[in-house]
Amino acid sequence: MRKKGWSYSGSTGPQFWADLHDEYIACSQGKEQSPVALHNEDASDEGKWSLDLDYNETDFSIENNGHTIQANVGDHSSNKLIVNGTDYKLAQFHFHSQSEHTLDDDYYEMELHLVHQDEEDNLAVLGVLIEEGEKNETLANMWDVIPETEGEADETISLNPSELVPKDLSTFQYHGSLTTPPCSDHVKWSVSDTSISMSAEQLQTFQQIYPDNHRPIQDLGDREIGTHY
Ligand SMILES: [Zn+2]
Repeated sequence: MRKKGWSYSGSTGPQFWADLHDEYIACSQGKEQSPVALHNEDASDEGKWSLDLDYNETDFSIENNGHTIQANVGDHSSNKLIVNGTDYKLAQFHFHSQSEHTLDDDYYEMELHLVHQDEEDNLAVLGVLIEEGEKNETLANMWDVIPETEGEADETISLNPSELVPKDLSTFQYHGSLTTPPCSDHVKWSVSDTSISMSAEQLQTFQQIYPDNHRPIQDLGDREIGTHY
């Protein structure tokens, strides 16, 4: 089967992703798909895993990959998420508009995904919901160089990803998947239960390029959601 491009609407939109290529079969057949609806009342007090962050000031190259705006780490060694004692190194972070996860049935304006990989290529993603409010100063430099069209030349910026994560991080934790094709299962998801903010102008800058790049909510099935404080 020819590999076809996927999108967020029409005949290449989320409900058809699995039909576009054999490798996308998990998008319809996967057993633990993301995103999911998060509810404070459903969360158990028992976390699925311990979570520690070790983030530092880092250079990122900024790209428009045709699906989102993504910041790629050049040097993978300097930032990590430590999940149950295993290091997952930060590879990239990117954004969705509107949010992919909902919290108590509310969508947020946007959502940040920090994507990490361990030595065996297992994935752990930290999600942070974003609402309209104060200007996000940490993202100001990146927002100045966002490429408006796909494949435009990369610019490099420097920021400390710890400033993109709420202080006193507490997360919903569940077993999920990539939210874009190939929708692979076995992704350890941690989603912050508090949001960060962007100004209306910052939201608009992104949403003029990607007004809608979110996958709809997937069935939770019999999965349980833990909460880690
Ligand atoms: Zn994402």
